[in-house]
Amino acid sequence: MKIIRFQAPAGPEYGILEGETVYRAKGNYATGFRRGEPVGELSQLTLLCPCQVTKIVAVGRNYAAHAAEHGDEVPSQPLIFLKPPSAVIGPGEPIVCPPQSAQVEHEAELAVVIGQRARRVAAADAWRYVLGYTCANDVTARDLQRSDGQWSRAKGFDTFAPLGPWIVTELDPTDLNVVCRVNGQVTQQASTSDMVFKIPDLIEYISAAMTLEPGDVILTGTPEGVSPIRAGDQVEVELAGIGTLRNPVVSG
Ligand code: MG
Repeated sequence: MKIIRFQAPAGPEYGILEGETVYRAKGNYATGFRRGEPVGELSQLTLLCPCQVTKIVAVGRNYAAHAAEHGDEVPSQPLIFLKPPSAVIGPGEPIVCPPQSAQVEHEAELAVVIGQRARRVAAADAWRYVLGYTCANDVTARDLQRSDGQWSRAKGFDTFAPLGPWIVTELDPTDLNVVCRVNGQVTQQASTSDMVFKIPDLIEYISAAMTLEPGDVILTGTPEGVSPIRAGDQVEVELAGIGTLRNPVVSG
């Protein structure tokens, strides 16, 4: 199933995408979503970020080759940080490069969307807390990440968390091709099988510290090839079996 959120006249609504047709989604995270009446064609609708987050928990250095490109070791435990909900944008919305940074970079990542409240979940039980998967771009002001020493500002600017285009449920996420393109040129390409810490272990580690709410997102780390983006660029994050998240880049 593909779950979307779209802009309806009365405000954002959840939908289910089948082929090019969007149906109203009945139900919720707790009961599950099922198909309601048709609303229109995908091309006629404005898509929004497909989930409503209370927090985004991101994992740093979770691909060995990416840690190596910055001269970093792979950590012995997951290295987690938060991105604020105010950073979230949806498909097609512009990533805004702020005046404080001269080096904004893309990070293509698989995003795990939580479906049920998760607190102190064991890895063996973790899959049942997952609603599905979407594409993410963990946009980073690399110069500020270095100079600040901690990462909240560099990872937390408005528009630095593009998510979408939809949530795919019933997908095996353990060996998906993840690709990033800037203006059509491939900059990152890897398999999610290269993750150092796997999804169940991440859910166990994170939920041991903080309760994950339905709609929250875990960004599972980026492979090697992170590169600068500038105003005028088009960035695409593509996950096999999910789809492509496209965002233009502007300055502001
Ligand atoms: Mg990242």
